[in-house]
Amino acid sequence: MTKSPMPPEPLFPLPPLREVIAAHGLSAQKRLGQNFLFDLNLTGRIARSAGDIAHGTVIEVGPGPGGLTRALLDAGAGHVVAIERDRRCLPIQAEISAAYPGRLEVIEGDALDVAIHEIGPPPRRVVANLPYNVATPLILGWLRHATAFETIVVMLQKEVVDRLAAVPRTKDYGRLSVITQWLCTVEPLFDVNPRAFTPPPKVTSTVVRLTPRPTPLAPCTFERVEAITAAAFNQRRKMLRASLKGFAAAAGFESAEALCEAAGVPPTARAEELSVAHFCTLGSTLGSFKTGAPSGNDEPRE
Ligand code: SAM
Repeated sequence: MTKSPMPPEPLFPLPPLREVIAAHGLSAQKRLGQNFLFDLNLTGRIARSAGDIAHGTVIEVGPGPGGLTRALLDAGAGHVVAIERDRRCLPIQAEISAAYPGRLEVIEGDALDVAIHEIGPPPRRVVANLPYNVATPLILGWLRHATAFETIVVMLQKEVVDRLAAVPRTKDYGRLSVITQWLCTVEPLFDVNPRAFTPPPKVTSTVVRLTPRPTPLAPCTFERVEAITAAAFNQRRKMLRASLKGFAAAAGFESAEALCEAAGVPPTARAEELSVAHFCTLGSTLGSFKTGAPSGNDEPRE
């Protein structure tokens, strides 16, 4: 077995994070979801949760003042690509980059517009303390290309992690649970008290690890799973024979009962009682009808 090389030290010591923020006048902005982490134990723990970061590419969304970026580099990350929307953070990132030559690349922009599944070379690992206001759309966007990632380790609002990991017949089980668990294993790792952040958010946070499955739990396309879960969970208290009525008609079925029967799913069941496999069967059943599914695009998942 080859021993991993020791992580190279920074070329020069970087100032403590609180000094960095003061020197750059970086006041936290709510609209950018800015809640910064200064606790080195915590940032180190997040960095270590991502596995072998020495090889391939670590993608950090929202590096801000760089606490987690520094932890990733100190933990031996060979190639970090950080995407930051707030221009005020760029000079700070440039200083970090100078301290760890050739190991940190910074992209200025909105992570929602960046095809991070193409940032290379693989294996790609996402590690981030996400801005909570855009966390769910970011994750759903990445899941469209789930197999492009080795692992996704992110800090999120605890409530969102509860939804990612929820099982059927619970209040948190919904669209996000089905889509995520269809494509990934979900491991909530640890909770983080609001006091760990500056400024403290109103909610508890949780670090979660998503590990993309080599193949999805059951065959279907992303668009179909999205469409059928949207229709079913939009009226989660209703039986499928009512909640899927419009959807079934748009897909060319006589009734929602006919769609459920073709898929072997009881029409009297409610969305929250169905497994991931049930949703995939419903989605695939739509595929056998030439009148087409209402979801439009029907490309297979990458
Ligand atoms: N990583 C830093 C830390 O842990 O201290 C900062 C985390 S803070 C919760 C979220 C960061 O994401 C901020 O730096 C914010 O400017 C940045 N951000 C917000 N929206 C963004 C977006 N759409 N694309 C890229 N970065 C974004």
